[in-house]
Amino acid sequence: MKDRGKVFVAIALLCCFFFQQTVWGKTVVAMDSMKEQEQISPAEETVIPPTDYIPVLMYHHFAIRDMGEGNGVVTTQAELRAQIASLKEAGYEFISLETLDRLLQQMEKKRNQKTDNEGKSLGLGQKYVCITIDDGYLSNYELAFPLFKEYRVPASIFVVTDSITQQTGLKKFTWKQGQKMVDSGMVKLYNHTANHIPIDMEIEEAFLLAVAQGEQALQAHLRQEGCKALAYPNGRFTLYAQKELEKMGFDLLFTVEHGVITKQTSRYEIPRIAVESGWDGQALLEHIERAARKSFVPGKR
Ligand SMILES: [Zn+2]
Repeated sequence: MKDRGKVFVAIALLCCFFFQQTVWGKTVVAMDSMKEQEQISPAEETVIPPTDYIPVLMYHHFAIRDMGEGNGVVTTQAELRAQIASLKEAGYEFISLETLDRLLQQMEKKRNQKTDNEGKSLGLGQKYVCITIDDGYLSNYELAFPLFKEYRVPASIFVVTDSITQQTGLKKFTWKQGQKMVDSGMVKLYNHTANHIPIDMEIEEAFLLAVAQGEQALQAHLRQEGCKALAYPNGRFTLYAQKELEKMGFDLLFTVEHGVITKQTSRYEIPRIAVESGWDGQALLEHIERAARKSFVPGKR
């Protein structure tokens, strides 16, 4: 159990601490989600109506029991249940990436026509939330999927396609299990590249190739309809890659910048809220509110 703990700490460090940096002449854009969260002054403690924004939640791995100190990205099945129940109770409607894509395309149209370019409030008639899960661990299938079926909640999983095919690293679900989730109508699988190498660790062309290979593998192994979406490994991206992915026909690109979707959010740079170990339903709701306050700070996109 001790050793497994270390593995999860490594995931937490890999996936949760991000910063802006220049590597190999590229400006890599990412955010330190944890630290930014703390920088809210009391003056900004106003409550933003949840119909003014859309939170996208980011999970990774699930466990039956609490894995102990330091396992920052492991959610217990009981925590996930409590979070879904609290969101439902608070009146949130869980939406798929297809629905999110439609909402963001409408918003983009209005923004481009300059008919609705002011402010950040989405002014929706309803509270929406999206569940995303990164990496494709077996625990998604064993522990989270049953709850998505039970509560009729759509969820989107970004898979590292080579590690599904070759079953490398921490145990992943198989393509067959992935198809079973897709067939339930509750889950869809999307691209997290073929190899999970973040863009600052290789040349941009190699990164784009890994994205294309990820897309090919999804098409070869799954029968599913839907939009084209990618979560950047470790949340890092470059503006060049963003443009190229747009040309490749991607509808939605997800980062790990801490925040919520506002009217000014680009669908090629979608922020997410990393759900941390130990959050019950109330804690999740409070973290969503805090993320919203941060996103609505004047000057922030
Ligand atoms: Zn990842």
